[in-house]
This record gives sequence, structure tokens and C-alpha cells, in this order.
Amino acid sequence: MKDTFRHKGLRQILVDELIGKGISDQSVLSMINEIPRHLFMDNAFVQFAYKDKAFPIGSGQTISQPYTVAFQTELLQLNPYEKVLEVGTGSGYQAAVLIGMESNVYTIERQKELFTKTKDFLPKLGYNCNFYYGDGYKGLDKFSPFDKIIITCGAPNIPEGLIKQLKVGGRMVAPIGNGDVQVMHLIEKLSETEIRTTTHGEFSFVPMLNNKN
Ligand code: SAH
Repeated sequence: MKDTFRHKGLRQILVDELIGKGISDQSVLSMINEIPRHLFMDNAFVQFAYKDKAFPIGSGQTISQPYTVAFQTELLQLNPYEKVLEVGTGSGYQAAVLIGMESNVYTIERQKELFTKTKDFLPKLGYNCNFYYGDGYKGLDKFSPFDKIIITCGAPNIPEGLIKQLKVGGRMVAPIGNGDVQVMHLIEKLSETEIRTTTHGEFSFVPMLNNKN
């Protein structure tokens, strides 16, 4: 697992591209600059790893586009040591960004193969968090409440159960919608009974799975 000057150079170009697309959170940008995305892919094709594109990771899933990862993370407004739930572990790249920003990450994956693979892989890179196999639509009640929740697959609707697992003052970032296109939602929990929902443009995610192995 090698990271070279060439990889570092390509990451800097990617960071500049993300700045050009409107990402401004310095700690998010420094994570994109730091994390060797090429190591999160099945075949380490450098020419793809640092393109601002989603990429297949096996089991019919994708590693999210760097812009999407940066955009969602920026919307979360993370503070160090916050407890964060990620739905859709996938390759672990988004989790690495959250961990790198000193979050206490709980990540849940619906596909056994990806869960096992990423649970083994991520700590090898020095990124440690709590991995769970299950249905993220239901969240992780046992470990709630969370300061922040990030959903990285297209959810059919805003998961009510996850709002319950969010702290008052907490933020959830979730792509909502069936089909090929989802609308990015930011849900702020204002009190036990009030939420504020705002939308932040269209994105394309793999669908949230319901009953999978
Ligand atoms: N955050 C990932 C993105 C992976 S794509 C990354 O950085 O690579 C979305 C992931 O969500 C896939 O791995 C998919 O298997 C997973 N997923 C789909 N439905 C899910 C559900 N109900 N609960 C948890 N994970 C789910």
C-alpha cells in the first residue's frame, strides 16, 4: 500500500478542483489532501482515483465522488470529538474523512462483504472507528444519540427513526429520493419536537437497500 509524491501531487490538483467547485471548509480540504483515495479502490488506477468521479468498489456499489464527500462533510459542520453515525460504510473513504476530522465514528453497512472488507482495511491505514453490519435506515439506537448523521446512499424518505437518534442541536445530511437522482437534505434538530429541513441540490447515489443478505 504505497503513497507516492505523484499521488500527493494528484490530490493537490483534486483539492484545487474542489475549491473551484465551491468547497471552502479548510479541514475538509485538508482531509481530501491527506487521504490516499487510490488505496480505497479495487484496482489502484491512479488516473481514476483522483478524478472527481464516483468509482465501482465491488458488490455493485461505488466510492462516492470526492466533491460529494466534501459537500456532505462541509454541511455536517463537524466539531472535534463529536459522535457521528455514517449510513453506508462502502469503501470507508467517507469514514476516513470523518475520522481524520477527529469524529467518533459509528458506521453501518448493509452488505456483509463490504462490511467485512472495510472493517479489516480501514484500521490498517490507521483510521479507527466502530463498524456495524445492519440496516442503516434503522440506525443504531443502542449508541444514540448522535451529534451528526450522514447518509451515503439514496434514502426513499427522511428516516424518522434517525431523527430520533439525533441530539437536539444535531445535524443530519441525507440524499433523499428514489431513482437516479436525489436531493441533498440537511435536517437540523431544533428541539425534541422541531426540525428544520433545507435542500442543497441534486446528487446521484446508489439506492439504500432494504433486505439484503
Ligand atoms: N460512504 C461510502 C459510500 C458507499 S456507496 C464510501 O465512502 O465509499 C453506499 C453504501 O451504502 C454501499 O456500500 C451500500 O451497500 C450501503 N447501503 C445501502 N443501503 C444501506 C442500508 N440500508 N444500511 C446501510 N448501508 C447501506
